[in-house]
Amino acid sequence: MTNAPAPSHAMLPRKDRFDIPEGTIYLDGNSLGVLPKGAADRALRTIQDEWGTELIKAWNTAGWMALPQKVGDKIAPLIGAPEGSIATGDTLSIKVFQAVATALKQRPDRKVILSDTGNFPTDLYMAQGLIDTIGKDHVLKTVAPEDVEAAISEDVAAVMLTHVDYRTGRLHDMDGITRSAHAAGAVMIWDLAHSAGAVPVDITASGAEFAVGCTYKYLNGGPGAPAFIYARPDIIETVEPALAGWLGHDAPFAMEMTYRPAMSTERLRIGTPPIVQLAILDEALDAFDGIGMQDLRASSIRLSELFIREVEARCPMLTLASPRDPEDRGSQVSFRFDNGYEAMQALIARGVIGDFRAPDIMRFGFTPLYLDDADIIAAAQILEDIMARETWKDPAYAVRSRVT
Ligand SMILES: *Cc1c(COP(=O)(O)O)cnc(C)c1O
Repeated sequence: MTNAPAPSHAMLPRKDRFDIPEGTIYLDGNSLGVLPKGAADRALRTIQDEWGTELIKAWNTAGWMALPQKVGDKIAPLIGAPEGSIATGDTLSIKVFQAVATALKQRPDRKVILSDTGNFPTDLYMAQGLIDTIGKDHVLKTVAPEDVEAAISEDVAAVMLTHVDYRTGRLHDMDGITRSAHAAGAVMIWDLAHSAGAVPVDITASGAEFAVGCTYKYLNGGPGAPAFIYARPDIIETVEPALAGWLGHDAPFAMEMTYRPAMSTERLRIGTPPIVQLAILDEALDAFDGIGMQDLRASSIRLSELFIREVEARCPMLTLASPRDPEDRGSQVSFRFDNGYEAMQALIARGVIGDFRAPDIMRFGFTPLYLDDADIIAAAQILEDIMARETWKDPAYAVRSRVT
Protein backbone atom coordinates (compact mmCIF):
# COMPACT_ATOMS: atom_id res chain seq x y z
CA MET A 1 0.00 0.00 0.00
CA THR A 2 1.22 3.45 -0.79
CA ASN A 3 0.34 6.81 0.66
CA ALA A 4 0.97 8.73 -2.55
CA PRO A 5 -1.72 11.37 -3.08
CA ALA A 6 -4.24 10.70 -5.85
CA PRO A 7 -3.39 12.52 -9.07
CA SER A 8 -5.12 15.87 -9.02
CA HIS A 9 -7.14 15.30 -12.22
CA ALA A 10 -9.07 12.81 -10.14
CA MET A 11 -10.24 15.88 -8.21
CA LEU A 12 -11.89 17.42 -11.27
CA PRO A 13 -14.55 18.56 -11.59
CA ARG A 14 -15.25 20.00 -8.15
CA LYS A 15 -18.89 20.86 -8.59
CA ASP A 16 -19.49 20.66 -4.84
CA ARG A 17 -17.45 23.83 -4.44
CA PHE A 18 -19.83 25.93 -6.51
CA ASP A 19 -23.47 26.98 -6.48
CA ILE A 20 -24.74 26.34 -9.98
CA PRO A 21 -28.47 26.80 -10.54
CA GLU A 22 -30.40 23.56 -11.05
CA GLY A 23 -30.97 22.79 -14.71
CA THR A 24 -28.16 25.03 -15.95
CA ILE A 25 -25.19 23.94 -18.02
CA TYR A 26 -22.82 26.84 -17.75
CA LEU A 27 -20.50 27.32 -20.71
CA ASP A 28 -19.74 30.97 -20.01
CA GLY A 29 -17.14 30.78 -17.26
CA ASN A 30 -14.79 32.54 -19.67
CA SER A 31 -16.97 35.63 -19.30
CA LEU A 32 -18.27 35.48 -15.73
CA GLY A 33 -17.38 32.55 -13.49
CA VAL A 34 -20.00 30.89 -11.28
CA LEU A 35 -20.58 31.60 -7.58
CA PRO A 36 -18.16 29.69 -5.35
CA LYS A 37 -19.69 28.18 -2.22
CA GLY A 38 -18.53 30.24 0.72
CA ALA A 39 -18.28 33.47 -1.26
CA ALA A 40 -21.59 34.86 -0.03
CA ASP A 41 -20.77 33.99 3.59
CA ARG A 42 -17.38 35.56 3.27
CA ALA A 43 -18.88 38.76 1.85
CA LEU A 44 -21.39 38.85 4.69
CA ARG A 45 -18.67 38.32 7.30
CA THR A 46 -16.58 41.06 5.74
CA ILE A 47 -19.51 43.43 5.82
CA GLN A 48 -20.97 42.56 9.22
CA ASP A 49 -18.07 41.35 11.35
CA GLU A 50 -15.34 43.52 9.87
CA TRP A 51 -16.88 46.70 8.48
CA GLY A 52 -19.96 46.68 10.73
CA THR A 53 -18.15 45.88 13.95
CA GLU A 54 -14.57 47.00 13.57
CA LEU A 55 -15.29 50.03 11.40
CA ILE A 56 -12.12 51.84 10.33
CA LYS A 57 -10.01 49.73 12.70
CA ALA A 58 -10.57 46.84 10.28
CA TRP A 59 -7.90 48.20 7.92
CA ASN A 60 -5.48 46.89 10.55
CA THR A 61 -7.42 44.39 12.66
CA ALA A 62 -8.97 42.49 9.75
CA GLY A 63 -5.92 42.73 7.52
CA TRP A 64 -7.65 44.83 4.86
CA MET A 65 -4.49 46.71 3.91
CA ALA A 66 -2.63 43.46 3.23
CA LEU A 67 -5.51 41.80 1.36
CA PRO A 68 -4.56 42.99 -2.17
CA GLN A 69 -1.11 41.42 -1.77
CA LYS A 70 -2.47 38.25 -0.15
CA VAL A 71 -4.82 37.74 -3.09
CA GLY A 72 -2.03 38.54 -5.57
CA ASP A 73 0.03 35.79 -3.96
CA LYS A 74 -2.81 33.31 -4.52
CA ILE A 75 -3.00 34.23 -8.22
CA ALA A 76 0.80 34.03 -8.63
CA PRO A 77 1.18 30.22 -8.82
CA LEU A 78 -1.58 30.03 -11.44
CA ILE A 79 0.53 32.09 -13.86
CA GLY A 80 4.02 31.02 -12.80
CA ALA A 81 4.80 34.24 -10.96
CA PRO A 82 6.80 34.44 -7.72
CA GLU A 83 5.32 35.60 -4.46
CA GLY A 84 5.12 39.37 -4.13
CA SER A 85 5.12 40.06 -7.88
CA ILE A 86 1.40 40.70 -8.40
CA ALA A 87 -0.68 43.70 -7.36
CA THR A 88 -4.48 43.52 -7.38
CA GLY A 89 -7.14 46.20 -7.63
CA ASP A 90 -8.91 48.44 -10.15
CA THR A 91 -10.26 46.98 -13.39
CA LEU A 92 -8.35 45.31 -16.19
CA SER A 93 -8.76 48.36 -18.44
CA ILE A 94 -6.91 50.43 -15.83
CA LYS A 95 -4.20 47.79 -15.44
CA VAL A 96 -3.68 47.76 -19.23
CA PHE A 97 -3.26 51.54 -19.15
CA GLN A 98 -0.82 51.24 -16.26
CA ALA A 99 1.29 48.61 -18.02
CA VAL A 100 1.40 50.43 -21.36
CA ALA A 101 2.17 53.80 -19.77
CA THR A 102 5.06 52.44 -17.74
CA ALA A 103 6.38 50.48 -20.75
CA LEU A 104 6.51 53.69 -22.81
CA LYS A 105 8.45 55.39 -20.03
CA GLN A 106 10.95 52.54 -20.19
CA ARG A 107 11.57 53.10 -23.93
CA PRO A 108 11.42 56.92 -24.24
CA ASP A 109 13.09 56.93 -27.66
CA ARG A 110 10.53 54.59 -29.26
CA LYS A 111 7.06 55.53 -30.51
CA VAL A 112 5.18 52.37 -31.48
CA ILE A 113 2.81 50.23 -29.42
CA LEU A 114 2.30 47.02 -31.36
CA SER A 115 -0.84 44.92 -30.94
CA ASP A 116 -3.09 42.73 -33.06
CA THR A 117 -6.49 43.18 -34.66
CA GLY A 118 -7.91 40.31 -32.60
CA ASN A 119 -7.19 42.07 -29.32
CA PHE A 120 -10.03 42.90 -26.98
CA PRO A 121 -11.34 46.39 -27.81
CA THR A 122 -10.73 47.94 -24.38
CA ASP A 123 -7.01 47.08 -24.55
CA LEU A 124 -6.75 48.93 -27.86
CA TYR A 125 -8.91 51.82 -26.64
CA MET A 126 -6.79 52.28 -23.52
CA ALA A 127 -3.58 52.33 -25.53
CA GLN A 128 -5.04 54.80 -28.02
CA GLY A 129 -6.43 56.96 -25.22
CA LEU A 130 -3.01 57.06 -23.58
CA ILE A 131 -1.40 58.11 -26.87
CA ASP A 132 -4.01 60.87 -27.33
CA THR A 133 -3.33 62.08 -23.79
CA ILE A 134 0.45 62.24 -23.97
CA GLY A 135 0.37 63.63 -27.52
CA LYS A 136 3.98 62.77 -28.26
CA ASP A 137 3.52 61.29 -31.74
CA HIS A 138 3.24 57.74 -30.49
CA VAL A 139 1.23 55.35 -32.64
CA LEU A 140 -0.78 52.22 -31.98
CA LYS A 141 -0.06 49.73 -34.73
CA THR A 142 -2.29 46.68 -35.13
CA VAL A 143 -1.55 43.76 -37.42
CA ALA A 144 -3.24 40.40 -37.97
CA PRO A 145 -2.47 38.00 -35.08
CA GLU A 146 -0.34 35.75 -37.28
CA ASP A 147 1.74 38.73 -38.44
CA VAL A 148 2.77 40.02 -35.01
CA GLU A 149 6.25 38.50 -34.87
CA ALA A 150 7.19 39.83 -38.29
CA ALA A 151 6.00 43.32 -37.32
CA ILE A 152 8.25 43.61 -34.25
CA SER A 153 10.85 46.17 -35.30
CA GLU A 154 13.36 48.36 -33.48
CA ASP A 155 10.92 51.29 -33.25
CA VAL A 156 8.48 49.26 -31.14
CA ALA A 157 8.43 50.37 -27.51
CA ALA A 158 5.93 47.79 -26.32
CA VAL A 159 4.24 44.70 -27.69
CA MET A 160 0.81 44.40 -26.08
CA LEU A 161 -1.10 41.20 -26.76
CA THR A 162 -3.87 39.12 -25.29
CA HIS A 163 -2.66 35.54 -24.92
CA VAL A 164 -6.00 33.86 -25.75
CA ASP A 165 -8.19 35.54 -28.40
CA TYR A 166 -11.55 36.36 -26.82
CA ARG A 167 -13.50 35.53 -29.97
CA THR A 168 -11.88 32.38 -31.30
CA GLY A 169 -9.76 31.10 -28.43
CA ARG A 170 -6.63 31.23 -30.63
CA LEU A 171 -3.53 31.02 -28.45
CA HIS A 172 -0.42 33.17 -29.04
CA ASP A 173 3.04 31.65 -28.63
CA MET A 174 3.94 33.47 -25.42
CA ASP A 175 7.58 32.41 -25.21
CA GLY A 176 8.36 32.87 -28.91
CA ILE A 177 6.78 36.32 -29.22
CA THR A 178 8.35 37.51 -25.97
CA ARG A 179 11.75 36.39 -27.26
CA SER A 180 11.20 38.31 -30.51
CA ALA A 181 10.07 41.41 -28.62
CA HIS A 182 13.16 41.31 -26.44
CA ALA A 183 15.46 40.66 -29.40
CA ALA A 184 14.19 43.94 -30.87
CA GLY A 185 14.52 45.72 -27.52
CA ALA A 186 10.78 46.08 -26.89
CA VAL A 187 8.89 45.66 -23.62
CA MET A 188 6.41 42.74 -23.58
CA ILE A 189 2.94 43.02 -22.03
CA TRP A 190 0.66 40.00 -21.90
CA ASP A 191 -3.05 40.24 -21.14
CA LEU A 192 -4.03 36.99 -19.42
CA ALA A 193 -7.76 37.70 -19.12
CA HIS A 194 -8.67 34.43 -20.83
CA SER A 195 -5.64 32.48 -19.58
CA ALA A 196 -5.47 32.86 -15.80
CA GLY A 197 -7.04 29.79 -14.25
CA ALA A 198 -7.66 28.17 -17.65
CA VAL A 199 -4.37 27.70 -19.48
CA PRO A 200 -0.99 26.97 -17.90
CA VAL A 201 1.15 30.11 -18.03
CA ASP A 202 4.76 30.44 -16.92
CA ILE A 203 5.19 34.19 -16.98
CA THR A 204 8.58 33.90 -15.27
CA ALA A 205 9.93 31.56 -17.93
CA SER A 206 8.59 33.81 -20.70
CA GLY A 207 10.67 36.69 -19.37
CA ALA A 208 7.88 39.19 -20.13
CA GLU A 209 8.05 42.46 -18.24
CA PHE A 210 4.33 42.81 -17.54
CA ALA A 211 1.18 40.75 -17.40
CA VAL A 212 -2.35 41.84 -16.56
CA GLY A 213 -5.65 40.03 -16.21
CA CYS A 214 -9.09 40.02 -14.71
CA THR A 215 -10.44 37.73 -12.03
CA TYR A 216 -14.16 37.46 -12.76
CA LYS A 217 -13.70 35.04 -15.67
CA TYR A 218 -11.98 31.69 -14.92
CA LEU A 219 -11.01 32.81 -11.40
CA ASN A 220 -14.66 33.19 -10.31
CA GLY A 221 -14.20 36.45 -8.38
CA GLY A 222 -17.66 37.76 -9.27
CA PRO A 223 -18.87 40.77 -11.26
CA GLY A 224 -16.53 43.72 -10.84
CA ALA A 225 -13.82 41.64 -9.15
CA PRO A 226 -10.45 43.43 -9.06
CA ALA A 227 -7.88 42.97 -11.80
CA PHE A 228 -4.22 42.03 -11.38
CA ILE A 229 -0.90 43.25 -12.71
CA TYR A 230 2.44 41.45 -12.67
CA ALA A 231 5.78 43.19 -13.07
CA ARG A 232 8.99 41.22 -13.48
CA PRO A 233 10.67 41.45 -10.07
CA ASP A 234 14.09 42.53 -11.39
CA ILE A 235 12.63 45.67 -13.01
CA ILE A 236 10.11 46.71 -10.39
CA GLU A 237 12.32 49.47 -9.03
CA THR A 238 12.54 51.03 -12.52
CA VAL A 239 8.77 50.95 -13.06
CA GLU A 240 7.41 54.50 -13.04
CA PRO A 241 3.69 54.28 -12.36
CA ALA A 242 1.77 56.72 -14.56
CA LEU A 243 -1.17 56.39 -12.21
CA ALA A 244 0.70 57.42 -9.11
CA GLY A 245 -1.88 56.88 -6.40
CA TRP A 246 -1.25 57.30 -2.72
CA LEU A 247 -1.44 53.59 -1.94
CA GLY A 248 1.45 52.98 -4.33
CA HIS A 249 3.52 55.47 -2.33
CA ASP A 250 6.39 54.20 -0.22
CA ALA A 251 4.76 55.67 2.90
CA PRO A 252 1.09 56.45 2.19
CA PHE A 253 0.39 57.68 5.69
CA ALA A 254 3.37 60.04 5.77
CA MET A 255 1.12 62.18 3.55
CA GLU A 256 4.07 63.62 1.68
CA MET A 257 3.50 66.29 -0.96
CA THR A 258 5.33 64.42 -3.68
CA TYR A 259 5.04 60.89 -4.92
CA ARG A 260 7.74 58.43 -3.96
CA PRO A 261 6.94 54.92 -5.20
CA ALA A 262 7.06 51.89 -2.90
CA MET A 263 10.15 49.78 -3.53
CA SER A 264 8.04 46.73 -4.37
CA THR A 265 5.04 45.64 -6.44
CA GLU A 266 2.99 47.78 -4.06
CA ARG A 267 3.85 50.71 -6.35
CA LEU A 268 1.34 49.31 -8.84
CA ARG A 269 -1.47 49.88 -6.37
CA ILE A 270 -3.41 53.08 -6.95
CA GLY A 271 -6.16 53.88 -4.46
CA THR A 272 -8.36 52.28 -1.82
CA PRO A 273 -8.86 48.58 -2.59
CA PRO A 274 -12.35 47.07 -3.04
CA ILE A 275 -12.34 45.02 0.17
CA VAL A 276 -15.61 43.12 -0.21
CA GLN A 277 -14.71 42.03 -3.76
CA LEU A 278 -11.20 41.10 -2.68
CA ALA A 279 -12.57 39.00 0.17
CA ILE A 280 -14.84 37.16 -2.28
CA LEU A 281 -11.91 36.60 -4.64
CA ASP A 282 -9.73 35.36 -1.78
CA GLU A 283 -12.41 32.75 -1.05
CA ALA A 284 -12.93 31.91 -4.74
CA LEU A 285 -9.24 31.20 -5.35
CA ASP A 286 -9.34 28.38 -2.78
CA ALA A 287 -11.18 26.32 -5.42
CA PHE A 288 -7.79 25.90 -7.14
CA ASP A 289 -6.15 24.39 -4.04
CA GLY A 290 -4.28 21.23 -4.92
CA ILE A 291 -5.13 21.40 -8.63
CA GLY A 292 -2.19 21.37 -11.02
CA MET A 293 -2.58 23.64 -14.04
CA GLN A 294 -1.45 20.80 -16.32
CA ASP A 295 -4.27 18.59 -15.05
CA LEU A 296 -6.73 21.44 -15.45
CA ARG A 297 -5.50 21.89 -19.01
CA ALA A 298 -5.88 18.17 -19.77
CA SER A 299 -9.50 18.30 -18.57
CA SER A 300 -10.16 21.48 -20.53
CA ILE A 301 -8.87 19.89 -23.73
CA ARG A 302 -10.88 16.72 -23.15
CA LEU A 303 -14.09 18.74 -22.65
CA SER A 304 -13.53 21.03 -25.64
CA GLU A 305 -12.58 18.17 -27.98
CA LEU A 306 -15.70 16.29 -26.93
CA PHE A 307 -17.83 19.38 -27.57
CA ILE A 308 -16.38 19.93 -31.06
CA ARG A 309 -16.91 16.25 -31.95
CA GLU A 310 -20.50 16.23 -30.68
CA VAL A 311 -21.49 19.56 -32.26
CA GLU A 312 -19.93 18.82 -35.65
CA ALA A 313 -21.67 15.44 -35.76
CA ARG A 314 -25.05 16.91 -34.80
CA CYS A 315 -25.07 20.44 -36.26
CA PRO A 316 -23.56 20.60 -39.75
CA MET A 317 -24.80 24.19 -40.20
CA LEU A 318 -22.30 25.44 -37.60
CA THR A 319 -18.70 26.19 -38.63
CA LEU A 320 -15.84 25.87 -36.19
CA ALA A 321 -14.26 29.31 -35.68
CA SER A 322 -11.58 28.17 -33.24
CA PRO A 323 -8.27 26.51 -34.11
CA ARG A 324 -8.86 22.78 -34.55
CA ASP A 325 -5.62 21.80 -32.84
CA PRO A 326 -6.23 22.02 -29.08
CA GLU A 327 -2.62 23.08 -28.57
CA ASP A 328 -3.46 26.30 -30.44
CA ARG A 329 -6.59 27.01 -28.39
CA GLY A 330 -7.38 28.40 -24.98
CA SER A 331 -10.25 26.97 -22.94
CA GLN A 332 -13.07 28.03 -25.26
CA VAL A 333 -14.62 26.92 -28.52
CA SER A 334 -16.46 29.18 -30.95
CA PHE A 335 -18.74 28.34 -33.82
CA ARG A 336 -19.93 30.66 -36.57
CA PHE A 337 -23.60 30.72 -37.49
CA ASP A 338 -25.37 33.56 -39.36
CA ASN A 339 -28.14 33.67 -36.78
CA GLY A 340 -25.78 33.04 -33.91
CA TYR A 341 -27.40 35.65 -31.69
CA GLU A 342 -30.86 34.10 -32.02
CA ALA A 343 -29.50 30.57 -31.66
CA MET A 344 -27.65 31.51 -28.47
CA GLN A 345 -30.81 33.07 -27.01
CA ALA A 346 -32.73 29.87 -27.80
CA LEU A 347 -29.97 27.84 -26.16
CA ILE A 348 -29.98 30.01 -23.04
CA ALA A 349 -33.76 29.59 -22.81
CA ARG A 350 -33.10 25.84 -22.58
CA GLY A 351 -30.57 26.27 -19.76
CA VAL A 352 -27.36 26.05 -21.77
CA ILE A 353 -25.52 29.31 -21.21
CA GLY A 354 -22.85 30.48 -23.63
CA ASP A 355 -22.58 33.90 -25.24
CA PHE A 356 -22.49 35.70 -28.55
CA ARG A 357 -19.83 37.96 -30.00
CA ALA A 358 -20.60 40.03 -33.09
CA PRO A 359 -20.91 39.46 -35.93
CA ASP A 360 -21.71 35.72 -35.88
CA ILE A 361 -19.75 33.96 -33.12
CA MET A 362 -21.41 31.55 -30.67
CA ARG A 363 -18.90 31.21 -27.87
CA PHE A 364 -18.61 28.38 -25.35
CA GLY A 365 -16.19 28.34 -22.43
CA PHE A 366 -14.92 25.18 -20.72
CA THR A 367 -14.23 25.35 -17.03
CA PRO A 368 -12.95 22.00 -15.74
CA LEU A 369 -13.62 23.01 -12.13
CA TYR A 370 -17.35 22.62 -12.61
CA LEU A 371 -18.07 20.83 -15.92
CA ASP A 372 -18.07 17.13 -16.77
CA ASP A 373 -18.53 15.06 -19.93
CA ALA A 374 -22.26 14.56 -19.29
CA ASP A 375 -22.76 18.35 -19.30
CA ILE A 376 -21.02 18.64 -22.65
CA ILE A 377 -23.05 15.89 -24.28
CA ALA A 378 -26.32 17.29 -22.91
CA ALA A 379 -25.42 20.76 -24.20
CA ALA A 380 -24.67 19.39 -27.69
CA GLN A 381 -27.98 17.48 -27.71
CA ILE A 382 -29.95 20.61 -26.84
CA LEU A 383 -28.07 22.60 -29.51
CA GLU A 384 -28.89 19.88 -32.05
CA ASP A 385 -32.56 20.07 -31.14
CA ILE A 386 -32.64 23.86 -31.54
CA MET A 387 -30.92 23.63 -34.91
CA ALA A 388 -32.98 20.72 -36.23
CA ARG A 389 -36.31 22.27 -35.24
CA GLU A 390 -35.15 25.83 -35.99
CA THR A 391 -36.63 27.05 -32.73
CA TRP A 392 -34.20 29.98 -32.93
CA LYS A 393 -36.55 31.48 -35.56
CA ASP A 394 -38.98 32.47 -32.80
CA PRO A 395 -39.00 36.32 -33.02
CA ALA A 396 -38.57 36.51 -29.23
CA TYR A 397 -34.97 35.37 -29.65
CA ALA A 398 -34.12 38.25 -32.00
CA VAL A 399 -34.63 40.92 -29.34
CA ARG A 400 -31.18 42.28 -28.51
CA SER A 401 -30.21 42.87 -24.89
CA ARG A 402 -27.58 45.35 -23.79
CA VAL A 403 -25.15 42.60 -22.84
CA THR A 404 -24.82 39.77 -25.36
C1 LIG B 1 -12.55 40.66 -20.26
C2 LIG B 1 -11.45 41.47 -20.83
C3 LIG B 1 -11.30 42.83 -20.49
C4 LIG B 1 -12.28 43.55 -19.61
O1 LIG B 1 -11.73 44.68 -18.99
P1 LIG B 1 -12.47 45.29 -17.72
O2 LIG B 1 -11.76 46.56 -17.44
O3 LIG B 1 -12.41 44.28 -16.62
O4 LIG B 1 -13.90 45.54 -18.11
C5 LIG B 1 -10.20 43.49 -21.00
N1 LIG B 1 -9.31 42.87 -21.82
C6 LIG B 1 -9.45 41.57 -22.17
C7 LIG B 1 -8.45 40.93 -23.07
C8 LIG B 1 -10.53 40.84 -21.70
O5 LIG B 1 -10.69 39.57 -22.07
